[in-house]
Amino acid sequence: MTQTAPSLPSDFIRDIIDDDMKTGKHGGRVATRFPPEPNGYPHIGHAKSVCLNFGIATQYGGTCNLRLDDTDPSGESMEYVESIIRDVKWLGFDWGNRLYYASDYYEKLYQYALALIRKGKAYVCDLSADEIREYRGTLTEPGKESPYRGRSIEENLDLFGRMRAGEFADGTRVLRAKIDMSSPNVTLRDPIMYRIKKENHYRTGDAWCIYPMYDFAHCLSDFIEGITHSICTLEFENNRPLYDWFLDQSVEWPRPRQIEFARLNLSYTVMSKRKLLELVENKVVAGWDDPQMPTLSGMRRRGFTPEAIRKFCEKIGVSKNDSLIDMALLENCVRDDLNEKALRVMAVLRPLRVVIDNYPEEQVEMLDCPYHPKNAEMGSRKVPFSRELLIEQEDFMEIPPKKFFRLSLGREVRLRYGYFIKCTGVVKDPGSGKITEIHCTYDPETKSGFAPDGRKVDATIHWVPAAHSIPAEVRLYDRLFRVPDALSEEGDFTTYLNPKSREILKSCRLEPSLAAAAQGDRFQFERLGYFCLDSGDSSKDAPVFNRTVTLRDAWAKIAEKGR
Ligand code: ATP
Ligand code: MG
Repeated sequence: MTQTAPSLPSDFIRDIIDDDMKTGKHGGRVATRFPPEPNGYPHIGHAKSVCLNFGIATQYGGTCNLRLDDTDPSGESMEYVESIIRDVKWLGFDWGNRLYYASDYYEKLYQYALALIRKGKAYVCDLSADEIREYRGTLTEPGKESPYRGRSIEENLDLFGRMRAGEFADGTRVLRAKIDMSSPNVTLRDPIMYRIKKENHYRTGDAWCIYPMYDFAHCLSDFIEGITHSICTLEFENNRPLYDWFLDQSVEWPRPRQIEFARLNLSYTVMSKRKLLELVENKVVAGWDDPQMPTLSGMRRRGFTPEAIRKFCEKIGVSKNDSLIDMALLENCVRDDLNEKALRVMAVLRPLRVVIDNYPEEQVEMLDCPYHPKNAEMGSRKVPFSRELLIEQEDFMEIPPKKFFRLSLGREVRLRYGYFIKCTGVVKDPGSGKITEIHCTYDPETKSGFAPDGRKVDATIHWVPAAHSIPAEVRLYDRLFRVPDALSEEGDFTTYLNPKSREILKSCRLEPSLAAAAQGDRFQFERLGYFCLDSGDSSKDAPVFNRTVTLRDAWAKIAEKGR
């Protein structure tokens, strides 16, 4: 039997690695890492980086480390570490026993800093933050040297030691690399390596009051772990010379190489942890795992599958150009995946009572309903059919306009997996005039879904039995923002929140089989969309379902109409 190899992704990063493999640069070794800072829950942008780093490791028989890049005590916490671990696992990736923390390297990094001071390549600077900024110059003007740049090695060693010992207040002194204040690359103008922060760190407690800056800590953490290809996002492109400078000054070959790619931007949401934190703190959303959030925990709760997210990341690929990816692409990946996997069931979101006058009062028939129209292996379940049913309010109109083909007075439709029914009467609330129930007759000859005389109906509608159905709350989600790119609009991004991003329906009814659903289970509610049993607010007696996605892309239609 011949097997064709699955087509492997290829992009400029893999091209670089292919070259390195050919030249034997790292002895044929590929080691990547995913280095999130535990200052927020991972979002779909992080998934792109996770898929890339772990995907490359798998493809080249290498390894990918999970490194918590926790060098700033402010805002970091164990809760965030746990969310990262949970979400990367959920996405389907395995770091083996290679879970690392940059905070475990504090002592090593401190020693590297001392070595730089001894080489005359780092100095303690007493300028204030504002002064440092001022001295730095601009893109068009060179910087000015700090008056402390000429301190002796002895004085620098003494002061840096005392910085560590906690003798100085926050902001009074920093350790800087001595590079070049007139470099055209501003990041090379004596960048800060360490600052004083008398803050408790979630892992190291009060052991340290000086903390290393990203540029200094990251390259050396990569080196310590034996990383070969350090993949990061484009905003670090200008920092690459600095990444290389610290390594040049500090370590021998072989060394990691930094490669930048474009971050994921997704329309109708925001992709920055700081902005997402703002939404959480201001209670715009119910938490990091609110199903409206672009976080992986929110998407999981909403019903997105890891397979769909991985597929999406594969589809968008990696490039060097920033772009805004359409949310519809992600939703389509979710739809495609759930279309295969989700059991079809019936639920009524806004119930309207139907009484079938010619159906025997005490009779209940168990109708066999397949779980998937194209996959018999997924089996079937019984749904009780009885005299009183519930249908969707919008599936009935007393006097139908043209093009309304569902149930109306005098018209016949098919009930999904069941009989033809014909509407014979309408009961209204005398006060409001609102329709409270409708009366129908059924044709006992149409149990198969077809009439023996060959007559046709224009519509098939879903239903649940009134007495045997179970109550549920259903939350309909839509896009979080009403504009594609809220951050590029004028003013505060929260003014562009979509006021209709969530609609809560409290009197929904579900077919009885759904009583057995477990939190996180996903279904297609026929004709309505894909739904997932919530894992936050749902309970056995009061189930809550989240709408994962609609059956079709409603926004595409709106956009088309607008044209
Ligand atoms: P944010 O801007 O959302 O705060 P960040 O880059 O500060 O994100 P980190 O925790 O530092 O978040 O990111 C961990 C890794 O994930 C980094 O390698 C980063 O480049 C990558 N990453 C973060 N956001 C995205 C994104 N939108 N697309 C692709 N990769 C991303
Ligand atoms: Mg960051």
